[in-house]
Amino acid sequence: MGRVKAETMTDTAELRLEAVRGRIEKAAREVGRDPASVRLIVVSKTFGEVDIKPVIAAGQRLFGENRVQEAQAKWPALKNAHPDLELHLIGPLQTNKVRDAVALFDVLHTLDRPKLAHALKAEMAARGKTLRLLVQVNTGEEEQKAGVAPADLPDFLKLVQDELKMEIEGLMCIPPVDEEPAVHFAFLSKLAREHGLPELSMGMSGDFEAAVELGATYVRVGSAIFGSRG
Ligand SMILES: *Cc1c(COP(=O)(O)O)cnc(C)c1O
Repeated sequence: MGRVKAETMTDTAELRLEAVRGRIEKAAREVGRDPASVRLIVVSKTFGEVDIKPVIAAGQRLFGENRVQEAQAKWPALKNAHPDLELHLIGPLQTNKVRDAVALFDVLHTLDRPKLAHALKAEMAARGKTLRLLVQVNTGEEEQKAGVAPADLPDFLKLVQDELKMEIEGLMCIPPVDEEPAVHFAFLSKLAREHGLPELSMGMSGDFEAAVELGATYVRVGSAIFGSRG
């Protein structure tokens, strides 16, 4: 009985993954974009190996986590088993977790302050490992939200790119929950264009199609694939 149930759940995760991929493709084609220019990051926070393995088996290779400690508990073994997995840190990073984050992750989407940039630069040099970096922008200028204020972005990029000589791939945002996300996606897209940054990390389960239509190159989708986090 248990086995039958597990297989049913596996099918569900695979079908949801396929459905999300199909929706991304459709949204890209609708605005004349190459669907291959949009990469899906499956956000596995709160879900364990049992849930993640079928998604890996279905061919998914990019995953996102928002906490370093939680990721450490499940990803080292999975990464060993699948060396082509790419792990993206999409939550805020405290400087005391920089060492662990550099060791485990491949991409950081949430670079947002000078102190973190300095700590990352030192740790990446010490370890001889370079993470790909995106800068999080607080497009809604929310008090409690991480990210660089839009007005501070030019100076922050100058510090990181020119002074610290760190390569920045693009920008990331999480729109305020009570606002039209497309407005924020269009704004982030404009900021990235102005600064010549190619990557745009935007769009979650509820709004990834709008993000794709406005230029997202990474979408971060969790609950549409794994189900509700409860
Ligand atoms: C949890 C999370 C997501 C995924 O959210 P869903 O609504 O489950 O798709 C995307 N981005 C960030 C930064 C997150 O923390």
